[in-house]
Amino acid sequence: MAGTKQKQLDDIKQQISTDDVTPELAAQATQLVFGDGNPDAEIVFIGEAPGKNEDLQGKPFVGAAGQFLNDMLDMIGLKRADVYITNIVKYRPPNNRDPLPEEKQVFLPYLESQLEVIQPLVVVTLGRHSLNCFLPDLQISRVHGQPKRYKGRIYLPLFHPAAALYNGSMRQTLIDDFATIPIVIEKIKSTERV
Ligand code: URA
Repeated sequence: MAGTKQKQLDDIKQQISTDDVTPELAAQATQLVFGDGNPDAEIVFIGEAPGKNEDLQGKPFVGAAGQFLNDMLDMIGLKRADVYITNIVKYRPPNNRDPLPEEKQVFLPYLESQLEVIQPLVVVTLGRHSLNCFLPDLQISRVHGQPKRYKGRIYLPLFHPAAALYNGSMRQTLIDDFATIPIVIEKIKSTERV
């Protein structure tokens, strides 16, 4: 693909509109929530789908879960502008219902294209929907915090910040798992093995 990474990402965003992906979701949503952050990021975070605030602002993770995500980034010395954040499904499902399997499936090629452009060192999946898009046989409760190498990519499955926000023990587990991100990155850089 020609052009800068940002241009390539803009083209994928445009393609979602051109292809009229999930017209029912698009009709009910305020706007497409494509992704946000650094196209050269070493870390890409992938959530589930936009919620109300994301739908209104056109950016992923800007509500309560997003604030928690920002706080955890801060704890490991990173800012949002250092990383790239997106979701599997790019339009808000009505009333924040779970995305349907066919909605996740139809958005997956666009998500794959985003990752091909960015080429991050690690893909951090947030919650079970995101994990199971890439690694369908794994259970988040068993594998959270453990890097998984699959088809040339390294995934780090984490709990979803919204699920952990008001659950004391899960919240601490997520913070602890999050703290491993710099260690995983260092290991990848030093040995290309985790
Ligand atoms: N939850 C998600 O999965 N994604 C967002 O963008 C916001 C909340």
